[in-house]
This record gives sequence, structure tokens and C-alpha cells, in this order.
Amino acid sequence: MYQLLLAVCINGDAALCMDRRLPLGEEMNMMRCMREGLVHAQKWADDHPDLELRSWRCVTPEKTPEPLENFAVEEIGDGVFVHRGRHAIPSPANLNDTSNIGFVIGEESVAVIDAGGSAAVASAVMFHIRERTDLPVQYLILTHMHPDHVLGAQVFRDAGATIIGHRKLDRALKARARTYTDNLRRLIGEQGFEGSAIVLPDEGVDGTRELDLGGRILRLEAHPTAHTDNDLTVLDEQTGLWFLGDLLFAGHTPALDGSITGWIERMKALSKAPAVVVPASSTNSAASNAGASDAVFSRSWLASQPRATGSSEFKCLAEALYFEARGETVKGQFAVAEVIRNRVKSSRFPNSFCAVINEGTGKKHRCQFSYTCDGRPETISEPAAYARVAKVARATLDGKAPDITHGATFYHTTAVRPSWSRKFTNTARYGVHLFYRRGVRTASN
Ligand SMILES: [Zn+2]
Repeated sequence: MYQLLLAVCINGDAALCMDRRLPLGEEMNMMRCMREGLVHAQKWADDHPDLELRSWRCVTPEKTPEPLENFAVEEIGDGVFVHRGRHAIPSPANLNDTSNIGFVIGEESVAVIDAGGSAAVASAVMFHIRERTDLPVQYLILTHMHPDHVLGAQVFRDAGATIIGHRKLDRALKARARTYTDNLRRLIGEQGFEGSAIVLPDEGVDGTRELDLGGRILRLEAHPTAHTDNDLTVLDEQTGLWFLGDLLFAGHTPALDGSITGWIERMKALSKAPAVVVPASSTNSAASNAGASDAVFSRSWLASQPRATGSSEFKCLAEALYFEARGETVKGQFAVAEVIRNRVKSSRFPNSFCAVINEGTGKKHRCQFSYTCDGRPETISEPAAYARVAKVARATLDGKAPDITHGATFYHTTAVRPSWSRKFTNTARYGVHLFYRRGVRTASN
């Protein structure tokens, strides 16, 4: 049985390339794969217009190692995922799947928090990332030096990630690389160990640092000596979820390689912070899941949707969202789509999406959507962004999103203040857009 391995790049950018595997069915042999590969590869490329196909080849499938067959990942907050490791000693039966691993999906890229205890574990995480998004894995953040957190790093480096750790991580890993790899090989066996390695960080954090995943900021903080001398925490600003590495434990007592008094001080300080924490290992999370109806507003929900297509009404809405709101958060894009839909429903506006969007087009300063009157041709130069807003348009037309603008039929960006904004009722704000409905506020709302 053979599979196609495709090398694809986002927006044709060589820095944003990755491998995709295409299963071709049980009876695909090498000769047939070589013969038919190009056709399959081209068909896949046609179905993914936002990705550029660079090359393809025939390979044997990667088999999921048995110990990781039930490898689970849960979404603990909008776009924030965690795999929970087991409380166990590294062995061939668990491939050192003994620590928590997180990943966060932004609008432009993905960050992984900790690499897992072996390449096999890291590959299982990569598989789950690719189930949810095609975005590049831009960062691997290592919370500290311990082997169960770092030995899968090569998998993410191969995927193109920049590896970031505490300023002191580099030195700590260099000093222990040999011991960590020798021990792991002995504990989980030569076969399970394959691909596992100490990979030194590309960048060190001293104090704090922000990473931008596109519409989503991760705040990294390097700590004084506690669990180790290279503890780094990661806060996702959007959800308030905080990855603490091994600074905070639940369910078992960890090894200590730093300072017990320093650690107790850190735990006290961290417990005062107003965030939801994701400790290194735990049986249940303090975080609650985002409400089911709100799930559509996440980047990961969009990524899980098929490529959106439709009639001229769909095309008009997708194009309007592309020109009006592609830089917004997913929720902000849904809000703009909702305003357009509210207008279609309202007797004060035309009753189709295309007519609402093109209302006033050609009459200077009367355009309802300024991009239709800016004199420039409507060229879509960011196909990946278009593919995303097209899914927002589809979901809006299909009634899949809960209402979030409270009946708004107007909006403007915070950069301007139109005269009508003082007369209408402000109902919501998402990103740079303020939303309004006609009429003044009444006591009942
Ligand atoms: Zn540790």
C-alpha cells in the first residue's frame, strides 16, 4: 500500500511549506502510484486553491504506533487544544506520552506548546493539528528542559517551526542532551525512539515576549529559577488560558531540578493571577469549553468546514466579506455578514444579498459598501483569506451562526465617526467595527 506525499505551500510562499499525505486506498502499489500520482495530486491541488502544489512522491504510510492509537486531543477554549499525557514512567507501552502538549490556532499560523516526550508523540500531535487546520506551524514553545517536554521537537522543526524557549534553555539542553537521549532510548526501546532528539531553541526569551499568530497574541514569560532554571509560561490572551509547563502540577508530584523555595514562591504568585491555567498534567481541566453555538466563531471550526461554494448570492456575500472584513477576527466577519443579512430581511433595503451589497454602486459617495466604488477592480490577491470568508458567507446563508449584532443594519470602523452613528443605537463591537441599529435605545433593551 502506497500513499502520495505532497509538498504544498501557502500562498506560494516557500517559507510556508508543508507535507500532506494522501491515502490512495488499500491496493495501491508502487507502480500504480507512480503512474496515477500526478492525476491524484492535481485533483487535490484543484480542491485546495489556496495551497500551491510544489511536488509529489509515492511513500509507504506512516503507521500510528500502537501505544498512541487512542491519542486524544480536546479543545479547552476557542482554538486552544490540549493532549493530556499519562501519569506513567516512560516505557515502550506509552512511548513517553507522559506530559501535556498544547496547540493554539490563530488566523495565520499555529503555535505548539511543548514537543512531547518522543517523535512518535509529536507526530501524533501533528496529525491532530492537520486534522483541524492547514495553517503553518510557526512556533514550537518549550516550557522547560525536561525530556517529556522536548524530545519530540524535531518533528515540529521539520514542519518549519521556529523553536522558542527560556534564555537559559539552550545551555540546559546542551548539558543534558546525551543523558536525555540515551535514557529515552533505553526506556522506550530503539524502535519507539526513532526520530526523537534534543533540538536546541532558535530563540531565547528573557523577560517577556509576544507572539502573533494572526489576530491572536500569545504572551510568553520567562521565570526565575523554580521547577528548573528555564521555566517559561504561555498565556493565550484571547481565552485567558495559561500554559504553565511544570510550574503547577495536578494529580502527582513532579521531579524538581530547580529551587524548592523558588518554586513555592512562583506557585503562590501564579495562583493570584486572574487566568485559567493548564497545568502540565491533570485529569480534568479548570477550563470550560466554549459554548457549542459559539464554536462557529473559531478559526478551527472554519478550518473543519469543506471549501465553500454557491450561487451568485453566496459569491456577492463572500466578496463583500473579503473586501470589508478579511482582516477581522472570525467573529467580526460573522458580524459583518449578519449586518448584510439583516439588511436583506429589512423592508428598508433591497431584498437580495447582491442588491444590498451593490446598492448605490456607480453613484459617487452613495455606495453602501465602499469597496464597490473605490474605482479599483475587485481583485482577490489573498486566496487563503478568501477561502476563509467564503466559509463565513456559507455558514451565514445556511443559518449556522447565532445572531451577535442584535439586529444591526449599520456598522463603521473605529477610524471614522459618521453622523448617523449619533442617531442610531450602538449594539455591539467586534474588532475595529462598531455595529448599530436604527432608532434610539429604549428602556427594554
Ligand atoms: Zn518538568
